[in-house]
Amino acid sequence: MCYAIPGKILELRDNIAVVDYFGEHRNVLNDFTDVQIGDYIYAQGGILVQKIPKQDAILILKEWEERFFQLKKLDLKISRIKEEVGIEDNKFIKIIEKTREGISLKRDEVLRLLKTNDKKELNLLFKTANKLRQKHLKNSCCVHGIIEFSNHCRNDCLYCGIRKSNKKLKRYRMDVDEIVKVASFAVNRLGFKALVLQSGEDFWYTTEKLIEMIKKIKEKCGVLLFMSIGERSFDCYKRMYEAGARGVLFRFETSNPRLYKKLHRGPKLKFQNRIKLLRYMSKLGYIIATGSLIGLPGQTEEDLMNDILLTKSLNAEMYSFGPLIPHSETPLANASLENINTVLKVLAVSRLIDPKAKILVTTALETLDKENGRKLGLLSGANSLMINVTPTKYKNLYSIYPNKAGNEREIEDDIEKTLNLLYSLGRAPTDLGI
Ligand code: SAH
Repeated sequence: MCYAIPGKILELRDNIAVVDYFGEHRNVLNDFTDVQIGDYIYAQGGILVQKIPKQDAILILKEWEERFFQLKKLDLKISRIKEEVGIEDNKFIKIIEKTREGISLKRDEVLRLLKTNDKKELNLLFKTANKLRQKHLKNSCCVHGIIEFSNHCRNDCLYCGIRKSNKKLKRYRMDVDEIVKVASFAVNRLGFKALVLQSGEDFWYTTEKLIEMIKKIKEKCGVLLFMSIGERSFDCYKRMYEAGARGVLFRFETSNPRLYKKLHRGPKLKFQNRIKLLRYMSKLGYIIATGSLIGLPGQTEEDLMNDILLTKSLNAEMYSFGPLIPHSETPLANASLENINTVLKVLAVSRLIDPKAKILVTTALETLDKENGRKLGLLSGANSLMINVTPTKYKNLYSIYPNKAGNEREIEDDIEKTLNLLYSLGRAPTDLGI
């Protein structure tokens, strides 16, 4: 399965390797002690994950070469902006121009972008985000797999379908060996180079069990591992890093502490704790994927702006913003469903503010518009996707929200559908570097 392109090491200095992809260079972090200049490797999320034999790499690269340049051409064509006519507010155009020139925006300018509902302005905003993505990161796109390994949770977040008060939910938990088996299948058979291991906050998995899981996966697979398991002790995150985990997907959910308090009941769930932990994870060297929920009751555009700015200030490598999808068995069952444009605005503004970031199309955005959500996200500044590789028998039980996109498809179909979408937009699943 070819959804990562091998690169060739051009240069090695300290823990950085410079990798060549058909003439395009990316810097990646290198933990390997046995790689040399000229070796072929796979990198993901800016981390070197696998060495590959030269003869295999050359074969794969041969398959890719022609397509790679065709895709680039197509992306360039799609991302071109035709002169926008009909926007009446000159100020809006000036703000957009500033971002094209790389000038940072003031808060009121960011708000102006987030508040627009004018069709032409929206169109220009989304196209500008897409153009900046093309300019800074070319047509690379991350494709990560996600394994949802337990739906047990000790928390009672008001929005979440796997909250502990949801007594109607059948709970499941995969044991360490099963998780390792699914992960090896995803990497060694399906070809994933990065995996997110996600669960509710389930303390059945002790630090020891988590470490065993990470070590066993790393022994069997060359893969970038993201942990998405909620709040744990500093020590646990430190030991998981030492065992080989290199990323975390850990949202702060909202940057508004009052809203945070309303949504997260329990003495331990404090906004500041979550932020402290995120900063600690960053210090340990984890790749940080974080962000917030869009469409929370009482959330304002100013909150969304603060969410984007907080994500940037946390040195996030990856922005993870998705809409709230109300779940019938939660206190937010009757919350209104967010308009897709609000989500696209957040992705686009994130791109304008942090042009080199990896920006995720979340499954929740796909769920909001199953037909076009992914495509619209990718055309509004996003450049990363996830494919659910949880075994079918568990998928529907991990119901943080209902009707999750992708659950109706087999994994292989999902991979094929994703690749076809990427190709139709001129995107290639190469690494994005750091
Ligand atoms: N226990 C982990 C993973 C939580 S589930 C952690 O605490 O980080 C992953 C994400 O699903 C959450 O961060 C939350 O933002 C999102 N989520 C939960 N309920 C949702 C809903 N109803 N609609 C959309 N996203 C939701």
